Amino acid sequence: MIITLDGPAGSGKSTTARALAKKLGGVYLDTGAMYRSVTLIALESKINLADAVKVDAIARSIAIDFKESENGQKVFINGRDVTAAIRAPEVDASVSTVSAHPGVREKMVAQQRSIAQKHKTVIVEGRDTGSVVFPNADHKFFLNANPSERGKRRALQTGQAVDKVQDIAKQIVERDSKDSSRLVSPLVVPSGAVEIDNSQLSLDETLQKILQFLA
Ligand code: C5P
Repeated sequence: MIITLDGPAGSGKSTTARALAKKLGGVYLDTGAMYRSVTLIALESKINLADAVKVDAIARSIAIDFKESENGQKVFINGRDVTAAIRAPEVDASVSTVSAHPGVREKMVAQQRSIAQKHKTVIVEGRDTGSVVFPNADHKFFLNANPSERGKRRALQTGQAVDKVQDIAKQIVERDSKDSSRLVSPLVVPSGAVEIDNSQLSLDETLQKILQFLA
């Protein structure tokens, strides 16, 4: 069974997807972490991020792996633990440029499908997982929340000061706008997806809503 959760930054996809995977005994696939991984290596390589040939070459040359640990899921690039590094503000600021390259997307989507094939129940979260990666998923959800609520959640997640919420909200709205306006696989509500605005909902309430649709 494949369940997709798409939505903009800070819409609660990751937390909800993780909780859902735990509840259903499935595997959690964080597709954003994969685009972040390519971005981290591109930044470290100091290449021009707009150079599709160079960025595509990086996407093709790195091996991205996920491993479960006591502290949650960890992300590795060629065996190096990059779980924290891919959440750096520099990666936040550049990931939408990197993820807009069709060659990068092709490589990531192939890997996402191959991971999903190996498991019975997979909860996938991202921007195009219900529209492009798994258009025939068993269940599709699109989570959203208002920008200031999303800014608050990101501030909490990243341990940033509450007085930064407006700045963070502005940054995520910019990222949403880039993700929604790109030519290949933009952020859209996938056909057949259930839309949930969770601005006023707790994680548990969001989870319960989703579970109602799975029953
Ligand atoms: O979900 P997260 O904030 O980690 O995603 C980081 C970025 O990766 C997004 O802003 C988007 O540019 C890209 N992404 C994507 N397609 C996905 C998942 C993430 O383009 N399926």
